[in-house]
Amino acid sequence: MASQENQDSDPDLVTGVPASEFDKTALLKGHVGDEPVVLARVGDEILAVSGACTHYSGPLGDGIVEGDTIHCPWHHARFSLRTGEALAAPAFSPLGRWKVEQRDGRVFVTDKLKAEPQPARDARNDPKRIVILGGGAAGFAAAEMLRRRGYVGQLTMLSADEDTPYDRPNLSKDYLAGTAEESWIPLRSEKYYARNNIDLQLRTNVDRIDRDAGTVVTANGQAIPFDRLLLATGAEPVRLPLPGAEQPNVFVLRSLADSRAIISATQNAKSVTVIGASFIGLEVAAALRTRGLQVHVVAPETYPLEKVLGKEFGAFIRSVHEGHGVHFHLGTTPSRIDDRTVQLSDGKSIDGDLVVLGVGVKPRIALATKAGIVTDKGILVDEFLETSVPGIFAAGDIAEWQDRAHNERRRVEHWVVAERQGQVAAENMLGMRRPFMSVPFFWSAHYDVTIRYIGYASSWDAIEIDGSIEKQDCIVAYKKGGRTVAAASINRDIGLLECEVAMGRPTEHKAA
Ligand SMILES: Cc1cc2nc3c(=O)[nH]c(=O)nc-3n(C[C@H](O)[C@H](O)[C@H](O)COP(=O)(O)OP(=O)(O)OC[C@H]3O[C@@H](n4cnc5c(N)ncnc54)[C@H](O)[C@@H]3O)c2cc1C
Repeated sequence: MASQENQDSDPDLVTGVPASEFDKTALLKGHVGDEPVVLARVGDEILAVSGACTHYSGPLGDGIVEGDTIHCPWHHARFSLRTGEALAAPAFSPLGRWKVEQRDGRVFVTDKLKAEPQPARDARNDPKRIVILGGGAAGFAAAEMLRRRGYVGQLTMLSADEDTPYDRPNLSKDYLAGTAEESWIPLRSEKYYARNNIDLQLRTNVDRIDRDAGTVVTANGQAIPFDRLLLATGAEPVRLPLPGAEQPNVFVLRSLADSRAIISATQNAKSVTVIGASFIGLEVAAALRTRGLQVHVVAPETYPLEKVLGKEFGAFIRSVHEGHGVHFHLGTTPSRIDDRTVQLSDGKSIDGDLVVLGVGVKPRIALATKAGIVTDKGILVDEFLETSVPGIFAAGDIAEWQDRAHNERRRVEHWVVAERQGQVAAENMLGMRRPFMSVPFFWSAHYDVTIRYIGYASSWDAIEIDGSIEKQDCIVAYKKGGRTVAAASINRDIGLLECEVAMGRPTEHKAA
């Protein structure tokens, strides 16, 4: 949230700012009453929109303007400066807009404008029944986009989850640390689904897809017909085949119920052993240190996150956690779990009240494979996110898509990618033929250090560090064949946004 202090030092846009300010910058922060508002220059025009991102209130005035869009520095949501529309997740709600007047060399913000209606779309060929299989990032984003684009047909969302779609990334961060409000977690209230005529069926496990009948069949035998189907079943945590891994004090973390179960287990606990120095494993370590537990992390690698971020970044992450009192046991693996003790392959053992496994996930593609849909590491989809079976689409952690820009297949496990794929798949289920073009983006938070990452680098020839990782002021570029294929940053939000734009201008949701 933009602080009151910052807001007070920003100009009151009702009383105006000199137009000459825009000779130096394309973006100017200010306020109208209590609301943060930004002015953005687009060619000769100056436009005014709300200064707080509708996702987590990120300060849009610290983002960038590209064409007639504005990018949030925190989680890279993108909005139209003309209509306010949230063009790319993780934000869904539009920004407020204001009328701007220029006179006597000054720029004034005057009346608040009404929300812009969506442009008309020819809906005559829309499918009658769309089924979304999965109530997570991709599933929710697809349902929201279908209704946003004016789809009025039957819309059913089936989810094995017991909760309405929620903010999964928070489950290993503030929510697990006990510093998030419960109200931050649902993506929308229960009423939203009723209001938007979305038939959300929770605790509903789908067993199979009957392609001939054009139905999905639930575990209790209900057959639900579809004209278009979106598969968005996500991934499930890997459970190590270790003796003792099925004990009740051994947890994984995927769902809100999992996060609640870990929180409940920490109530009378003093120490936890986290197995796996993955992003989720380390975020769990940070959250549970914040709760005051003693934390041990066991992992085979020498530097945490080395495979994704490289040695130097890994060493820094390790030092951040050690600075907060985490004990690392690296270069070793667990061999068994005996009640409260994790035995390690190097002969040592760690005592603890609970164990959390953070050793990766595997995409839930069995339903697709069983239905004869072509799969590899994930479900193969074309650039429009359609599977090998016409009318059946896939998005999110399960989707292995064709990246047109690099002529490569990719599958990633990122929140924003899943949501944006859900949005693009929704439009394509309506026949809009939008290729999925977003540059992958994710973030990860460890205490007060947030790492943001764009692009895709399963390997690299060289790493170039601009700034200092230790001083938490850097952009680290991962290079392959002389080209930057990915970049990670700490406290260099604008630089990273600019790098993202340079890497591939995202075009999947053009401003109307
Ligand atoms: C704790 C945690 C923290 C994370 N933090 C970050 C982060 O900071 N940044 C980031 O970029 N990414 C993060 N991720 C990854 C991100 O959450 C995932 O990439 C994203 O949720 C994938 O979205 P999805 O829609 O593909 O799957 P999911 O969000 O997992 O949704 C899958 C849905 O499918 C349902 N389902 C599955 N099988 C069936 C079935 N047979 N029948 C009915 N329903 C079914 C599930 O119940 C669920 O509703 C995190 C993940 C976790 C678990």
